[in-house]
Amino acid sequence: MADRTFRLYDSMSRVVKPLELLEPGHLRFYSCGPTVYSYAHIGNFRSFLTGDLIVRTAKELGWRVTWVTNITDVGHLTQDDVADAGGEDRMEKALHSKEGERFSNVWELAEYYGEKYREDWERLNLSEPTVRPKATQHVREQIVMTQALIDKGHAYETPTGVYFDVDSDPDYGKLSGNTRDGLKEAVRDVVLDENKRQQADFALWKKDDKHLMQWFSPWGWGFPGWHIECSAMARAYLGDTIDLHSGGEDNMFPHHECEIAQSEAFTGKPFSSHWVHTRFLQVEGEKMAKSKGNFFTVRDLIEQGFDPLALRYALISVPYGKPLNFTMQSLRDAQGNVERFRECERRIVAALGSMPEGADTPTGTDLERVAGEMLAAMCDDLNTSVAIAKAIEGTKIILRQNELSSADAAAAAWFLRRVEGLLGLWRVTPEDGCADTEPVVDGVTVSEWIERRATAKKNKDFTEADRIREALNAAGVELRDTPGGTTWAKKQV
Ligand code: AMP
Ligand code: ZN
Repeated sequence: MADRTFRLYDSMSRVVKPLELLEPGHLRFYSCGPTVYSYAHIGNFRSFLTGDLIVRTAKELGWRVTWVTNITDVGHLTQDDVADAGGEDRMEKALHSKEGERFSNVWELAEYYGEKYREDWERLNLSEPTVRPKATQHVREQIVMTQALIDKGHAYETPTGVYFDVDSDPDYGKLSGNTRDGLKEAVRDVVLDENKRQQADFALWKKDDKHLMQWFSPWGWGFPGWHIECSAMARAYLGDTIDLHSGGEDNMFPHHECEIAQSEAFTGKPFSSHWVHTRFLQVEGEKMAKSKGNFFTVRDLIEQGFDPLALRYALISVPYGKPLNFTMQSLRDAQGNVERFRECERRIVAALGSMPEGADTPTGTDLERVAGEMLAAMCDDLNTSVAIAKAIEGTKIILRQNELSSADAAAAAWFLRRVEGLLGLWRVTPEDGCADTEPVVDGVTVSEWIERRATAKKNKDFTEADRIREALNAAGVELRDTPGGTTWAKKQV
């Protein structure tokens, strides 16, 4: 399998082409993560899932993968779709909103939503990245890069900050097509700043001694621009040139365009050999918006009783390069399909006593053929709709017989492990026999109850704290207060 070519659409050259690795057998990959000012929504997760599927496919091909995906916890402003962003820092704005009232400061808010994002990541069965750096942990590297860009004549200081001079980069615009001449359109809404040489120049550093997150720099107190964080972190963990960079389609301009300009001006080398962008998710044919009531987070849907793996199924059912229209019906349909994988597991366990960790390739069988076709589909620009159809075809072969012979069960186990590795649509059921969904009590997940209880205790409302403990207990969930925090377990019956 290892000699198979992995082809992906490259947004820079605008063709589907093989993913070329600088170091044979080792993929160095950076993908843009969330801004942790709120819960990530299912659209964000569609983009993160593209990264996960690339990593899974690479690993099935036998490649080593170094995957960096960041957490943006400073510098991402509200008006981020123009060449040089304006508005408030999203983190600060969130702290001053109704939802922000529960946090004492912006650091606590970032920590909270960062943790929630990691929980949702795990629930949707995304692979663990090699490293998940935070922008605030790499301010030093961002300052060093900004200073070097000034020294090389690519950036300049003004009374409001340090700006990248897009005129110093003849290639600016090569990814998005927003070249300097065509930038008039893109800068239409930019907040005018008369200190800049031209309005398309974008901030590397914002001077601001009132900002809630500020650092001291050669230009005084302030905070980094949003784009510089990804340039600095990609280089810190992956080197000057990386194999692949990904994000959602809105990241192409200005975020990735600006990353390319900064990184290439700094190193004098190509930044990334390949660019992948995920098309936006829509809900019931419309853009997701809180005001429309069609805005979903992963936890919203799990609280409604949906299986996280069914949500994963629905989110990856359409290839990343096509817009996805997410519907509640698609989620209900997915629920039945992920159950097929569990039924295969039950039949394997019935035949073999347990789910084997690994099994030999069932050479020459239909399952081997179907697994090969499933991998081929993923290598063909992540054709998830074909790959999933192949996974389901495999379950039909397995479920044809009510009782599996041990040889058939071993082959089925091998196939299920391929589905697990490549698509993540099945994972071993825990020993208590329950799918590893978190219990939901009165429409709220246990983790959320634990948080509400912690808030009640913090507010010295011990009656409420005890009520929550008892309500969960009555629903079969036991809480344990440990020095590291409160944990839960299903009560043994
Ligand atoms: P943000 O938290 O806004 O920085 O977004 C995190 C990632 O989610 C970025 O790569 C965005 O491009 C991506 N994204 C945002 N909205 C959607 C959507 N509706 N569908 C797919 N990806 C999205
Ligand atoms: Zn980024």
